[in-house]
Amino acid sequence: MLTGLHIAVIGGDARQLEVIRKLTDLDAKLSLIGFDQLDHGFTGASKEQIDEVDFTEIDAIILPVAGTNSEGEVDTIFSNEKVVLTNELMSKTPEHCTIYSGISNNYLDGLVDSTNRKLVKLFERDDVAIYNSIPTVEGTIMMVIQHTEMTIHSSNVVVLGMGRVGLSVARSFAALGANVRVGARKSEHLARIFEMGMKPFQLSDLEQEVQDIDVCINTVPHQIVTASVISKMPPHTLIIDLASKPGGTDFRYAEKRGIKALLAPGLPGIVAPKTAGQIVANVLTQLLKEDVLDRKGNA
Ligand code: NAP
Repeated sequence: MLTGLHIAVIGGDARQLEVIRKLTDLDAKLSLIGFDQLDHGFTGASKEQIDEVDFTEIDAIILPVAGTNSEGEVDTIFSNEKVVLTNELMSKTPEHCTIYSGISNNYLDGLVDSTNRKLVKLFERDDVAIYNSIPTVEGTIMMVIQHTEMTIHSSNVVVLGMGRVGLSVARSFAALGANVRVGARKSEHLARIFEMGMKPFQLSDLEQEVQDIDVCINTVPHQIVTASVISKMPPHTLIIDLASKPGGTDFRYAEKRGIKALLAPGLPGIVAPKTAGQIVANVLTQLLKEDVLDRKGNA
C-alpha cells in the first residue's frame, strides 16, 4: 500500500489515467494537475490548479512520458491550463521528493540538479522498455499489415538492431512465418540471432542484405538506412522506422525513390494506451514503495 504518500500527478494523456487508478487503489493521496476537463473522478484524488498545491507536502511528482518541454511546460491534454514546473515550486518540496518522468531533457536535468532532487527516467529502465516492446510489436504488425499487400508469412523481413525492441520485433515476425534477417554490430547479438533460428548479418553489410526484402524495420536510433541502402531495396519495400525521432532513415531519399518509409513513434500509447499505462503504473508503484516510502520513513 502507498498509504501516507502525497503524490502530484502533473499532465499526461490516457496512459496517466491508469497510473492514477492504480495509485488511488493503493491509498495514495493524489493532487491531479492538468486534469480539470476530465469527466471522471477518482476517490482520494483531487483536481487542482498548480498554484493551489502545497508542494511542501508532496512526496513524489509524476510527469508524463515526455516530461517537460525545453521551457519546463508539461503537456496536458485534459486541460487548457498552462502548467510549468519551475525551480521555485520544486525547491518547496521536501528533500525526499522524487520526480518520475518517461524521459528527460536539459531543462528537467537542470531543475533536479539545482534543487538536488532525485529524477527517475522510467523509459530508460530495462523492465519498462521490455514490457513496452510488447505493444510496440503489436503496433508494428498492424502497420505492416496496413501498408503491404502480402502476408507477413513468407515475406522477407529485415530487422535492424537487437536491443529491447529489435529482439521482440524479430522474434514475433519470425513466429508469424516471415523470413527474418537481423542486422546487429555485436558478435554476441549475432550469436543470439543465430540461436533463435534467424539469419544474422553485420550492419556494415546492410546494402547487400536489402536487395530482396519486402519489409525493413529499423530500431537503431542513428542514420543507418541511408540513401545508398535505400537505393538497393526493391521498389515495393516498406520501411517502418521505430527509432526515436528523427529515426534512422533518409526519408527524403526514400520519398524521392518512391519507397514507402514511415516513422512510427509512440506505438504503445497509440495501439494500447491502457496496457501502456498499466506498464508504467506497475513499475511506478514498486518504485514508490521501495524508494519514496523508505526515504520518507528515514527522513
Ligand atoms: P536499445 O535496447 O538501446 O537498442 C538499440 C539498438 O540499436 C541496439 O541493438 C544497439 O546496438 C543499436 N545501436 C545503437 N546505436 C547504434 C549505432 N550507432 N550503430 C549501430 N547500432 C546501434 O533500445 P530499444 O529499447 O530497443 O529502443 C530502440 C529505439 O526504439 C529507441 O530509439 C526507442 O526510443 C525507440 N522506441 C520506439 C517505440 C515506438 O513506438 N516507435 C517504442 C519503444 C522504443 P548495440 O547494443 O550494439 O549498442
